[in-house]
Amino acid sequence: MLHHLRFPTEQSQGRRYPEPSHPYRNDYQRDRDRIIHSRAFRRLENKTQVFTAPASDHFRNRLTHTIEVAQIARTVAVALGLNEDLVEALALVHDVGHPPFGHSGEEKLHTEMARFGDRFDHNLHALRIVESFEHRYAAFPGLNLTFEVREGIIKHSRDYDAAQFPELAEYSLDRRPPLEAQLVDPADEIAYDCADLDDAVDAGIVPVDAVREQVALFDRLWEQAERECAGATEHQKFNQALRQMLDALVSGLIDGTRAAAGNSKLRSVEDVRACPRRVAIATEEGRQAGRRLKEFLHDQVYRSPALTEEKERCAEKLVELFRFYLANPEKLPPGYRERAEQEPLHRVVCDYIAGMTDNYLLRLHGEEMEELRD
Ligand code: MG
Repeated sequence: MLHHLRFPTEQSQGRRYPEPSHPYRNDYQRDRDRIIHSRAFRRLENKTQVFTAPASDHFRNRLTHTIEVAQIARTVAVALGLNEDLVEALALVHDVGHPPFGHSGEEKLHTEMARFGDRFDHNLHALRIVESFEHRYAAFPGLNLTFEVREGIIKHSRDYDAAQFPELAEYSLDRRPPLEAQLVDPADEIAYDCADLDDAVDAGIVPVDAVREQVALFDRLWEQAERECAGATEHQKFNQALRQMLDALVSGLIDGTRAAAGNSKLRSVEDVRACPRRVAIATEEGRQAGRRLKEFLHDQVYRSPALTEEKERCAEKLVELFRFYLANPEKLPPGYRERAEQEPLHRVVCDYIAGMTDNYLLRLHGEEMEELRD
């Protein structure tokens, strides 16, 4: 157990706008609830994770993916004796900054912004959502989340250079985030690697035999399922092997993090922050299995025309809409038009588009382009 590395809720650096404490929910439980009740969170339901077209009612979207990440991250946190409430809030908020149409949408938006010497970054966008774009409280803008949740939004998946991002100075970019934040990225990877494999096989993009040939861990677990479940259907054996692969990867993360914390001789949260490396990492065996699975998904799934053609088509509409609003700023909703008087237009348009769901963007694209043709 890593109880000594648990971030203590009572040591939170608190909220930007101080608030009285709640009688029975701690600060991170309140953050979790604020996130769940936000608009950006609900919009995850209609944002692409990997599969764009509603080819099936049971493929993951960003909301169900987020719930899977939260479940995995909480399991790991509890097994290690870490702060489950903080981990849960961080996992639930980790994807709210994603634009429509998954990574294709994100790349296109970034390319459009780069033409202005600017950028789109989903972590920075998530921070702006929880700091300013959510309007739920009279007393302050945004959700007024605790420092550690805001810090985790920025630091959960990558390091930012302090010289390049002076606006993030308050988050001490040269220091690691608490273990609770470090866990979110590996939990995210385990969740989407397993889920993408599941959905890809279900969609018929890859046959199970190809998975068995190229992902050794999966093959071993498949054979085990064959031995243990005589008479099981192919579908049942696939689910059995997939479930056990998820279990093995999660166990690898728990064991690896415990070992890495021990090897780095971490004794306190302060040591975690001062450590030059992240320590929420899987065992060598777990990392290798994860790498192999990722390679397979990149080669066989993410580049498959069945996925890329639809995503490209949708992401092109994102670009068209971006350029449409740049050329016709009077078409923006009133709040954004007002902001455009103070801020660069490309940034305001980017924020508007990044906040849209897939469906909303397609509908708006249809309407605005229709009007252009009239
Ligand atoms: Mg994610």
